[in-house]
Amino acid sequence: MSQLANQIAVVTGAGRGIGRAVALKFAAEGADVVCVSRTAENSEKVAGEIRTLGRKAWAHAVDVTDAAAVAAAGEKILAECGRVDILVNNAGVTRDGLLMRMSDADWDTVLDTNLKGAFLFTKAFVRPFIKQRSGRIINIASVIGLIGNAGQANYSASKAGLIGFTKATARELASRGITANALAPGFIETDMTAVLKEEMKTELLKNIPLGRLGQTEDIANAALFLASPAARYITGQVLSVDGGMVMS
Ligand code: NDP
Repeated sequence: MSQLANQIAVVTGAGRGIGRAVALKFAAEGADVVCVSRTAENSEKVAGEIRTLGRKAWAHAVDVTDAAAVAAAGEKILAECGRVDILVNNAGVTRDGLLMRMSDADWDTVLDTNLKGAFLFTKAFVRPFIKQRSGRIINIASVIGLIGNAGQANYSASKAGLIGFTKATARELASRGITANALAPGFIETDMTAVLKEEMKTELLKNIPLGRLGQTEDIANAALFLASPAARYITGQVLSVDGGMVMS
């Protein structure tokens, strides 16, 4: 039996990397998926891949930092899908730099995308979730939100903020049958980490007990678990998927 049969999921940042893997995994488990990304080209491509799996898919090019655009997309998605069961807030960016040289623009872009984007998308679906007395919210945070990282003050703050947001959401919505959890990926091989120099990757590996960088599939598997009926009694949690990098 497919774990997400008859479920409808919205995945932001579904055009590439982790979001794409989550969207495809959910579809393989029976879900119909709304793919959101910044560019129409990427979300449409992944929606096409999902249709070849025999599931329904919709593509939306939405900038998650644009409140009006997110609200309009939320209404459109609900109108075309009828309902939404799962929301994965995954869209994210980095603008790394040392604190003393970090521009206001780089701070704002990262906080607006990684944190405010999740707030706006959650807000777009919270009323229908409350009305249907069910909903799964999965926020893609980062181990960097737990431990910090030199050169990533903006990114660390955004992901720590997302973890706080997840816990507040979980407490606020639990009585309505809605769960909210965060995943904290370690270093996963995507476009985002492709920019890292080889020496840096070698250095990183020394701190990963399982001895390899993560694959997008590793995060998709954890997201599937949190979206599945098996996770019905789990809320407000942060699950690290990082090869053992951070052990609390
Ligand atoms: P990628 O850079 O590969 O993909 C990012 C996705 O987010 C793209 O689909 C992009 O859209 C979308 N996106 C970015 N900005 C916006 C925006 N303003 N509006 C709408 N969509 C947007 O990233 P990853 O797959 O590596 O990362 C996904 C998430 O996982 C992020 O939140 C990241 O912080 C987190 N993460 C990643 C880790 C890693 O090691 N890779 C580790 C820990 C956390 P488009 O395709 O149109 O460009």
